[in-house]
Amino acid sequence: MKTTHVPSGFHPVQHERIIEELVHDSYKLRGKLPEPTVCPSCGAVFRQGRWQWLETVPGANEHVCPACLRIQDHFPAGYVFISGGFASSHQNELLQIIHNEEAHQKAEHPLKRIMAIKSEEGGVLVTTTDIHLARGIGEALHRAYQGTLTFHYNPEQFLLRVRWDRD
Ligand SMILES: [Zn+2]
Repeated sequence: MKTTHVPSGFHPVQHERIIEELVHDSYKLRGKLPEPTVCPSCGAVFRQGRWQWLETVPGANEHVCPACLRIQDHFPAGYVFISGGFASSHQNELLQIIHNEEAHQKAEHPLKRIMAIKSEEGGVLVTTTDIHLARGIGEALHRAYQGTLTFHYNPEQFLLRVRWDRD
């Protein structure tokens, strides 16, 4: 079947991944996916224009969701760096808050996930598939234990760096 409404100068390309890597916020998948589409990796279902946790539909189209794609590519959208003496002496409590925040956000939004939690020089780094989850984690820490919370957003890379520090 031929596409009839292709504007001149626009060439449909098969290699979606290459295009996606060049476009800002590429992992949002602005292109149209048939509905329902199922992510073969995590089982999230794309329906009514967004990824949701739904019953898998037999015979549905398959496409890796943006969160799984980021995980595969090791390409986080959010970074939360946690530092300070309080953080190192209360690591379990902080991890509890971090995991709760993820569970809370992910229950509604399959694309909001923690990618990794790693000890780094001077603190702990949490990486996420979504900037709103990174922000939510920072705010949850701040709500629970005050400290200093800072955000640095890079719109060009659609990247959010959050820092939470408490001595
Ligand atoms: Zn997925």
